[in-house]
Amino acid sequence: MSRRPLVAGNWKMFKTRAEASAWCAELRAGLADADGVDLAVCPPATALATVADALAGSGVGVWGQNVHQAESGAFTGELSTAMLLEAGATGSLLGHSERRALFNEHDDLLAEKVVACLAAGLAPVLCIGELEYARDAGSTETILDEQLRKGLALATPAQIAGVTIAYEPVWAIGTGRTATPEMAQEAHAFIRGVLHDLAGEAADDIRILYGGSVKPENAAELMAEPDVDGALVGGASLEAPSLLAIAAATRP
Ligand code: PEP
Repeated sequence: MSRRPLVAGNWKMFKTRAEASAWCAELRAGLADADGVDLAVCPPATALATVADALAGSGVGVWGQNVHQAESGAFTGELSTAMLLEAGATGSLLGHSERRALFNEHDDLLAEKVVACLAAGLAPVLCIGELEYARDAGSTETILDEQLRKGLALATPAQIAGVTIAYEPVWAIGTGRTATPEMAQEAHAFIRGVLHDLAGEAADDIRILYGGSVKPENAAELMAEPDVDGALVGGASLEAPSLLAIAAATRP
């Protein structure tokens, strides 16, 4: 088992194309700091092609923040897998907690998105995580189990091997409160156990990212945990040097 670390930045609804270009130039200049670590960035849809062009040949992945499950249709405001691919994306986040909470995305819908991405050749990154009340009630594992089993329900075991999971406790996203390394490891080990149940031995190769207020200062201790295979980074990814510092802290 050798899982190469993966650090991805989620810009959310930040950065114009000009700002995105400047970020890419800074990232390219510092890429040596991330040697041995896979990198990806999730720009807003308007900047996807700009970022894909600016990072061409660098090996840095470019992901959508969301994608629709249908191939095309009357879905105002949505983007298809073909559109993301055409813009240069190689993957997409699915079910980020902001999509779940603000746009009513639920596990059954995400199951459709997972297989739509796989069919199109776009790498799905399924985001899961518990709300604070669920953690306080001791229901974290029940929630994670349900989100995983429902979200992956339409994928075959072989397809599940092509999915990346991002564990993002909702109470840690954008709050400055991060999970302790022990909490992260406990959740990641549980997730890997469920993946074993769904996909067998392939689960050992599936990367499980931690997300929730990851910063250069706290990345090393989180990433040192055996089942934490990298990070999904929101706020701290808006500055390229900060994402590179997190990648450097992730290096085995
Ligand atoms: C995120 O948006 O996925 C995230 C983890 O945000 P932050 O790093 O700002 O908590």
